[in-house]
Amino acid sequence: MARQGKKSRNEEFWALALERAHLGVWDWDIANGSCFYSPTWWRMLGYEEGELADTADLWLQLTHPDDRERALASGDAHIAGLTPSIETEIRLKHKQGHWVWVLDRGGVVERDALGKPVRLMGVQTDISKQKAAEAALEQVNVRFRLALAASGTGIWHYDMATNKSYWDARTRDIFGLVADTDEVTGDLWHSFLHPDDKEATERAHQPSPGSDAVTASQYRIIKRDGEIRHVESLVRFVAAAGTAGQVLGTVRDITEDKLREQELAFAARHDALTGLWNRSAFDRLLADHIATGVPLAVFYVDLDYFKALNDFAGHAAGDLALKSVAAGIGRCLPPSAHAARLGGDEFALLVPHCDAAQAERLASAILAAVRGADLGLAATSRRLAASIGIAMVHDHTTTVADALACADDACYAAKAAGRDRFAVFSAEANSGGLNAARLAADTVDAMEDGRLKLFGQEIHRLGRPWDESRHVEVLARLVGRGGRLIPPGEFIPAAERFGIAARLDRWIIRTALSLHGAAMKSGAITLGFNLSAQTLSDPALWDFVDSIIEETGAPHSGIGFEITETAAVTNFDAAETFVRKARERRCRVSLDDFGAGMSSFEYLRRFPVDAIKIDGSFIEHITESRFDREIVLAITSIGRSLGCDVVGEKIERQDTLGMLSDMGVAFGQGFLLHRPEPLEQVVTRATIMAGAVRKAS
Ligand code: C2E
Ligand code: CA
Ligand code: CA
Repeated sequence: MARQGKKSRNEEFWALALERAHLGVWDWDIANGSCFYSPTWWRMLGYEEGELADTADLWLQLTHPDDRERALASGDAHIAGLTPSIETEIRLKHKQGHWVWVLDRGGVVERDALGKPVRLMGVQTDISKQKAAEAALEQVNVRFRLALAASGTGIWHYDMATNKSYWDARTRDIFGLVADTDEVTGDLWHSFLHPDDKEATERAHQPSPGSDAVTASQYRIIKRDGEIRHVESLVRFVAAAGTAGQVLGTVRDITEDKLREQELAFAARHDALTGLWNRSAFDRLLADHIATGVPLAVFYVDLDYFKALNDFAGHAAGDLALKSVAAGIGRCLPPSAHAARLGGDEFALLVPHCDAAQAERLASAILAAVRGADLGLAATSRRLAASIGIAMVHDHTTTVADALACADDACYAAKAAGRDRFAVFSAEANSGGLNAARLAADTVDAMEDGRLKLFGQEIHRLGRPWDESRHVEVLARLVGRGGRLIPPGEFIPAAERFGIAARLDRWIIRTALSLHGAAMKSGAITLGFNLSAQTLSDPALWDFVDSIIEETGAPHSGIGFEITETAAVTNFDAAETFVRKARERRCRVSLDDFGAGMSSFEYLRRFPVDAIKIDGSFIEHITESRFDREIVLAITSIGRSLGCDVVGEKIERQDTLGMLSDMGVAFGQGFLLHRPEPLEQVVTRATIMAGAVRKAS
């Protein structure tokens, strides 16, 4: 009874144990070929007990094709006595079609008299969950390895007890160990350290037992071929029971990062195009140099004609020119000097230990370098020059802004004096004189950037509507940087003084004729241009005027020139030639501001002009001043006898107009008749009037 009870408890016990452990049991009788599968086995695969014919090879039929060979081999090896037991992992097909990973363990449990196996028993454990976990872990590993590979991180450790180092393939690679066989001895790493970084790096790699802090350090290594690389290490101490512990670390080559860092730092301080310092870096350098009290020269270099080059030949050519100029300047400078591009076509230089004579020599060299700059194929016919301003700094209290402003002022003066030259800043020249210089320079810029405007003022035949004559005097206006209209009385004298008046006159003639050549050709309007003394003595002037006339179609007879007495005096012969050539072409010539110089009458005999314009100073007070009246009368009668028109200027009042008419002055100009307005408007009006006149006649 007790045995019985014990036996039944045992059976139940085993059944429960199998059940709980998810174990399936098989029992194979080799002799008669039958196989018993426990109820737990069936359930493990989703079947009712005996649902499939329980042949000896039923399990094999359910085994995944890829696993069959391995399963059979494992059984065969054991039966042949080669292995102490069967142990293999296989996939069995669940009733619902999925695969169940099982660990199959078993062995011979009975042999015949000859020792031949007759019965085998085994247990199959569902290990699907472990398998899934393994697969997941493998995935993590793969990702981890990938991440390590991608970050280029190597892993190493150092065993403190044995003084042995272990480097992975990447670490070996970083240090340039080619062969896998290169032995990594405990102190190999130290031999790679850059002498300047050695001490600090070794300190950072000292393990601090007990701490699990991670220490990061960056250092340089010298590879066996001499190459220097930057690396970064993360290091921590790992305690291990019973041993002195390990130092565990990663290592990563950061040479490229370092280079990029350096590049960024460089870019922050340099001009990308030329490689020279940029403005902020230059300001700092200049401040540092001034603070030392060392005498130095500050140069402000402004390129001339650069905008035209850029417009004409394109930005690529402009960039090339800037680079070439920068390189040329660089070649002129002593090693202690610094060059910066302040933006656009402006450069600044700072030359320590430089006296005025040295500065001037240097400036001449730079001017030559700029003239010789490579403008590329597209720009062979263009030239480039520079205006250079120099400020000498001796005083350590000078501010950067002041030093640059002085150099800038001198640069303006160089520009105004005709460009392609240098000027040294002097405090005396700066009082007043420099304003004119600046104004002249600004006038040059205005021609390039559209701030020079054409205005026109009608000249009337007194007592007749303007519609009938439609003659206009062209007057220049400068729109200052701040938008203010600067009258020619301010900027023309400056232009004359600094030698740019001829350029200005040409610009005005070219612009007016290109814009209004058609209206002139149609007879709608005639234009009078003021000429400076410099223009008058320009031998190439008529070639220029002729070519403009040819280009624009404006007729010679529609063009008049006004020359002043002062201009004529400046170069008498040139004025004479000018008038002769004008008459050959049937261009009109007027003597302007007549009477203002006392020898005016003398000129009238020498210049056979078409018109005399009586200076406004004789007109404005004519109603009150008998003297002025006498002068005007005299001029008028001379003019009449010489057959020239007489024009009264500056007519502001009706009584003045009446008096002039009575005195026989045939033409007049003044605010009363017309206030100067943009030439365009005058021409438009004239064109309409001309049409009306034609219709009427
Ligand atoms: P200008 O040739 O004697 O020109 C006449 C000047 O008198 C103009 O001044 C005109 O605006 C002004 N005006 C005309 N009617 C009156 C009036 O009723 N009252 C007063 N108070 N002024 C009157 P603007 O335009 O300021 O020109 C001044 C001078 O600048 C001109 O004197 C001329 O010598 C010179 N100028 C103007 N444009 C040019 C140019 O394109 N080239 C050159 N070389 N000189 C120019
Ligand atoms: Ca005039
Ligand atoms: Ca005048």
